Amino acid sequence: MLVSIVGGGGSYPPPHFGGPSVAIDFDGSILLVDCGEDCLTGLSVTGYDPCDVEEIFITHIHIDHWAGIPQLAVGKIAEGCPRLKFIGATPVVTSLSEIIPRFLPRSLSYEFVRFDDYYDVNGYSVKLVEMDHTVETYGLLVSDRESKLVAIMSDTRPSNKILNVIKDTILMLFEATLPSALAEIAASSKHTTVTELLNVARQVGANYTIAYHLSKLSLEELRQALRAMQQTRILIGARGLQISL
Ligand SMILES: [Zn+2]
Repeated sequence: MLVSIVGGGGSYPPPHFGGPSVAIDFDGSILLVDCGEDCLTGLSVTGYDPCDVEEIFITHIHIDHWAGIPQLAVGKIAEGCPRLKFIGATPVVTSLSEIIPRFLPRSLSYEFVRFDDYYDVNGYSVKLVEMDHTVETYGLLVSDRESKLVAIMSDTRPSNKILNVIKDTILMLFEATLPSALAEIAASSKHTTVTELLNVARQVGANYTIAYHLSKLSLEELRQALRAMQQTRILIGARGLQISL
């Protein structure tokens, strides 16, 4: 399995980070988790073609998580593979199925698929994890028979409930949207600060934690914090980062 950061920024991404988007390559079958701003460029940076992607899981309705879909759709039509499947938790897909089609080219064929708990991809289990955000939001936990392999946590406040579900996952992606100086805004907009992310990484004990959904200010603080620390096993979710499991 190969996990690629297609875009690692949030709604106001640092330059060249792109909006949030992660590709999970299940031995040839690719699931794109969100498709934020300019995810088409992010796909080519990570070695994928628009035709490699047919299924997109969307975590929630906030536009920074799907703003790149119309451009990806045009790319797919141009490359001769005009099909997309949008997957998500039932309440998310129900809302998105009324919004996204307005932005899609006519020649794209598409479907919306709802699921409520988990589904199988090539023998891996993909399970929904409910986040604590301002709207209904779901992250994903991918496991095989033996271990929790990858947790992709979308926009959320850190909570013990969520951290317990993903404890001891091998690779965790967790948001760090805001710098620690903006803790009050993080609490009211239901996001996570850099200090909180560092605590989350300690609590979950993943082999590797990727800080994701970054802004210019949170990235600056994170880089500074990581320079001063040793053996954190925390990675910066820059576009193009790839990890095999
Ligand atoms: Zn959001």
